[in-house]
Amino acid sequence: MTSDGIEMAGGPAPRPDAVAPSFAGKSVLVVGLGRSGLAASEVLRRHECSVTATDTSLKPDLGPEARALEEQGITLALGGHDASLLKGKDLIVLSPGVPRAIPLIQEALKQGIPVLSEVEIAWELARAPIVAVTGTNGKSTVVTLLGKIVAAAGFEVAVAGNIGIALCAVAESVPADGVIVAEISSFQLESIDRFHARVAVLLNITPDHLDRYPDVESYAAAKARVFANQIQSDFAVLNADDPAQKQFAVTLGAQVLTFSFTDRKVERGAFVRGSSLWFRDSSGEYEITGVDDVPLKGPHNIANVMACVCASAAAGVRAEQMKRPIEEFRGLEHRLEEVAEIDGVVFVNDSKATNVDSMKYALLSFEKPVVLIAGGKDKGGDFAKLARLASEKVKAMVLMGQAAEKIGRSWPSVTAHKAGSMEEAVAAALKQAAPGDVVLLAPGCASFDMFKDFEHRGRAFKEAVHALARTGAGSGGSDK
Ligand code: ADP
Repeated sequence: MTSDGIEMAGGPAPRPDAVAPSFAGKSVLVVGLGRSGLAASEVLRRHECSVTATDTSLKPDLGPEARALEEQGITLALGGHDASLLKGKDLIVLSPGVPRAIPLIQEALKQGIPVLSEVEIAWELARAPIVAVTGTNGKSTVVTLLGKIVAAAGFEVAVAGNIGIALCAVAESVPADGVIVAEISSFQLESIDRFHARVAVLLNITPDHLDRYPDVESYAAAKARVFANQIQSDFAVLNADDPAQKQFAVTLGAQVLTFSFTDRKVERGAFVRGSSLWFRDSSGEYEITGVDDVPLKGPHNIANVMACVCASAAAGVRAEQMKRPIEEFRGLEHRLEEVAEIDGVVFVNDSKATNVDSMKYALLSFEKPVVLIAGGKDKGGDFAKLARLASEKVKAMVLMGQAAEKIGRSWPSVTAHKAGSMEEAVAAALKQAAPGDVVLLAPGCASFDMFKDFEHRGRAFKEAVHALARTGAGSGGSDK
């Protein structure tokens, strides 16, 4: 990094405003009316496309936004996806929630109709370079912190993608000298063609979504598509501590930055040495901050911060501009979020731990004995892998949802209690805990069997904890 930061060089020039995007005026079918499908429909319509949007839900189940589409001249085809919808279509835009395997998409591919994801549409419209972040875990944390670092360095920035706001919704509003930070899932990457990230970050690959991928290799291959179309002036950020990523470094067209807990593994990138985080490139070494000055808990979060250091350096942020935003970032709701302390027992909400790896890192983040609340909708995770860690860290567990039996069987040495609701689970967990312990919600599963989503589950946990604190399950409750 020079004193001006790494040159975020060239790359193909953004599409000039005067040139219409390739999809302008086409007949497009948008499949799936979640947040990204809604945003894509609107953007396509604005670019003179004739748009039909289809979803398996019926109109009353969709929000007012879907109904508003009709007012913009978008045709809605709800309650299913009939193959006749493909007639006369030039392009299909597929939402990440809808698998490519469904008959409609298979038929479209057979007919030679291109199937693209919403991020491809956004990429065509964007003037600012896109910093794309993918990985099994840590994406939301990383894009949020990255957005703060890049903004603190004076860039105009939008953080979008899988995090609250669709990429299409911000693509056109960020100026060419700004930065778009995008959280991108493997599902979105399955359907890209020319999408090109000027900086692409792959945080980690561990088994997840095995209900939607035939095996880990196909899941990893989808994630690695974040590097597709990159050229020498771009940057690829890889995790040198993740054995699953070794295969990628050799085939990349971009300049590679890596991050690692081990200094010597990093030629150019971020690493831990002694008690500090460092960045190194051909111009020298730069101390970023002390490991203990990072407020986020757990080793995984140090890795996340290192990924942010690499990506923001690639985006043109100088080393000394990174320290303050890193030291000020306290993390996101539902990710190792401290909720309250009751009778000396600390309650932590990690509802976003929806797979086995994030559950592992949640457990690794505490030295104190943990009473774990886990379970939910199983995504094919191998809990037995954590049996040893669980026997070391977990003093008791309270299991709920569909996966309760499976987790119980996978960790035979841990005392298990069952709960039918979050209130029951929280009360049972407190009973098992002693002062100085942690009650941790880290389900290791999706939430859909009992809750609307992980946020709903996290809120239910927090409400149950606050209710216990109020009723004074013990005497010494303190809400955070
Ligand atoms: P994502 O957007 O990829 O789901 P989040 O930042 O929302 O990532 O975190 C999801 C879950 O994974 C949380 O439980 C969090 O504590 C955990 N987590 C965050 N970063 C990592 C990481 N690098 N490795 C493993 N688990 C992580």
